[in-house]
Amino acid sequence: MSASHVIIGDGIAGSSAAETIREQDPDADITVVTEEGEALYNRILIKEFAKGKLPEAPISIHEEDWYAERDIDLELNTVVTGVDTDEKVVTTHESGEIEYDKLLLATGGTPTQLPVDNSDAEGIHHFWTFQDARAIREHADESDTGIVVGAGLLGIDLAAICGAQDIEAHYLMRGNRWWRYALSLEGAEIIHDALEDNGVTPVFDSGVDHFTTDDDGVVTGAVDPNGEEYEGEFVGVAIGLNFNTEFLRDTDIELDDGIVVDEYMRTNVEDVYAAGDITRFYDTILGEYAQNGAWGSAKEQGAVAGENMVADSEAEEFRWVSSYSITHFDFPFLSFGHPTLGDDHAERKYSDTEWRRLAFKDGKIVGGVLIGDLAPQSKYKQLIREERVVADQKEVLLEQDVDLENLDAPATAESE
Ligand SMILES: Cc1cc2nc3c(=O)[nH]c(=O)nc-3n(C[C@H](O)[C@H](O)[C@H](O)COP(=O)(O)OP(=O)(O)OC[C@H]3O[C@@H](n4cnc5c(N)ncnc54)[C@H](O)[C@@H]3O)c2cc1C
Repeated sequence: MSASHVIIGDGIAGSSAAETIREQDPDADITVVTEEGEALYNRILIKEFAKGKLPEAPISIHEEDWYAERDIDLELNTVVTGVDTDEKVVTTHESGEIEYDKLLLATGGTPTQLPVDNSDAEGIHHFWTFQDARAIREHADESDTGIVVGAGLLGIDLAAICGAQDIEAHYLMRGNRWWRYALSLEGAEIIHDALEDNGVTPVFDSGVDHFTTDDDGVVTGAVDPNGEEYEGEFVGVAIGLNFNTEFLRDTDIELDDGIVVDEYMRTNVEDVYAAGDITRFYDTILGEYAQNGAWGSAKEQGAVAGENMVADSEAEEFRWVSSYSITHFDFPFLSFGHPTLGDDHAERKYSDTEWRRLAFKDGKIVGGVLIGDLAPQSKYKQLIREERVVADQKEVLLEQDVDLENLDAPATAESE
């Protein structure tokens, strides 16, 4: 008898698992449950929609027919409220119960709200779903002033939306630069200049003490911890994610700011797997647990989980160097691997819009950031995958045209 697979979440992780399971087992029962009202769409592209640069249609990835054609039962607008891993039953908000043989948790996260007064005022946006993007586009289109909070990869999307929608915006950051965990001031300054060119003013050593509102509770601005006031009809906040694990509270599934899985995407509870942003996975390259918040990684984790769910074995392991690009400016930007980890760094500026930084851990590259010239990315990723000790050869690594042939030969087992 074929197994019954239940997948919670129809983001790229859940959807790619469903596709893989169907490819591997034509007879399996597959159910995908999502609280969203639409089937898989390209979350990466919703920022382009919010900027006003793309219509809705190209953002959709799967129509509902896609699931029907593959005999996958898609349950839209359905919130999972509980899981009983002894009885192997998933409970939904309408007291519906779905039995499973194998369960995949692919529920991602929900944006964190700032813990300050008036942070739930009308006009303050968080950005995760297509519905959020629709509200952002409409509001941004009619706003003249804006405030963005959150100096990371999602915050910069909100800043770019302000720029594209001709909003005069202030981007309030806590430290002295954008994405201070991955960039030095020299690299971040390239981004600051590009923001300015787009009509967005970065404000450093700032943040939000509280938001101000009018008598109707609509946001009018923010006051930062230094007492400075900024006007903002439109506010975008992107300070991180709360992982969607609330419905697992009555289970023994191990959580550690996300769901803990091994390299096969298995949780500590039999027949329960997890994939995508929600996981704290065993990274076989780093040799420790890690997290990724990127599309390609979530897709691959979903596929790996799907393979292993069908095979009921360690059929495939997740081994992946993640990457995340930003395309808002005249120059490209790419972060790869784990650029915020590392005990050692090397960096160089090549021109006003070209800069590079590598992060090393125990002598090996674990991640980095490339601005302006993305050509060396495949070479750095190769070195990460090979787990090669190269931190003593920073000059070679920072050459504009990196040539891996110029590196010392990798240490062999005898010479180690
Ligand atoms: C605006 C934006 C821009 C981005 N840009 C990039 C980029 O340029 N490059 C990149 O690599 N990554 C980017 N990302 C990140 C990338 O989109 C995510 O890493 C990826 O989508 C994660 O996929 P996932 O399937 O793990 O989770 P999600 O896509 O978050 O899917 C989880 C799904 O589970 C559903 N769910 C949650 N709880 C329940 C429940 N209890 N019951 C039922 N359903 C539930 C959610 O509604 C959601 O549909 C961006 C993200 C955003 C928001």
